[in-house]
Amino acid sequence: MNSGKKTIHRDELDQTLNREDPLAYVRRTGRDTLEERFRAFANALPRTDDGGLDPALLCDRPCPLCACRDSEELFTKYGFPIHACDRCGFEFARPMLDPDRELTPADREWTERMAADHLAFITKSFYRDCATRRFEYELQQVLSLIETLPSRPAFLEVGSSIGLGLSVAARYGFEVVGVEPDRGAADWAERYGFEVHRDYFRADLFPDRKFDVVMTLDVLEHVPDPVGFLREIRKVLKPGGLVLVQVPNAGALITWLEGSRNQIYNGLIHLNYFDPASLNRTALTAGLNPRRTTSFLSELGKILAFDRDHIREVIARHRPDLVDGFELHQDWINDSGLGYKVLGIYAEPE
Ligand SMILES: [Zn+2]
Repeated sequence: MNSGKKTIHRDELDQTLNREDPLAYVRRTGRDTLEERFRAFANALPRTDDGGLDPALLCDRPCPLCACRDSEELFTKYGFPIHACDRCGFEFARPMLDPDRELTPADREWTERMAADHLAFITKSFYRDCATRRFEYELQQVLSLIETLPSRPAFLEVGSSIGLGLSVAARYGFEVVGVEPDRGAADWAERYGFEVHRDYFRADLFPDRKFDVVMTLDVLEHVPDPVGFLREIRKVLKPGGLVLVQVPNAGALITWLEGSRNQIYNGLIHLNYFDPASLNRTALTAGLNPRRTTSFLSELGKILAFDRDHIREVIARHRPDLVDGFELHQDWINDSGLGYKVLGIYAEPE
């Protein structure tokens, strides 16, 4: 069913490969201002006398992958401690903002303003073009692992945002449905005529339906219980169906170089920090079999701003097995699993 569609190469998605101005994309997307806004929100949260976050806002969590209660604080970001599990090494926010906390008016106002700003950005044609191409690349990755599909295969996107992924999957012949809790984004997708459930994903949204392909992009890092989340997705997968999970990569070369400054570390909204190995471990714990795990978006243009000896040292520290073959090239970075996005494709056991 892929015939007639141009195969997308991952380099086409890698904005920092623009040698003349590798950071043009960051400016164009307004990402350079996000840091400041998150910091302002965190600073406005109620504090104790010693400057810590008010414990009434927070809830503790063990390691979301292995349930170990012992972990070590690595650093704080926006006042939220980022920990590594003593047993399995997984990095996660601990404690986290209590999802059941009572929202203050300021809390609610900020959340609405961030959602509105985000929507204004993701509906820009520049962003829509990039995101559509990226989605098509990922769908092609899934399709390359499927030999035969039914004549009208069923597709679900969890976190379907403004419906760009749904429109690509529909173009590829799928019957599509989305789940999206953000009102503004769901409105947009419905304007395209797509069926969207305005909710957080639960399997019981689909009591009578199963899907051949489920995709969830940039969602798993936000959910308090990523294993439970993938178990819910399994319940709506057909036998032999595939799930594609995309997350930002805490084991990316650019993440190692930037450390706590990297935008992946954001205890306010990102609770889990995956790398390719821990994403596979999450899926396996949920009962899904890894079929392909890759990375893309090398961020090479940003990496080249660092001193080469320093880059080598950082790789040696994190992955001594990789340092001998080290090459400052996007293929080496992506193929070594060090690109900024991890893409994992998982199968429901037959
Ligand atoms: Zn653990």
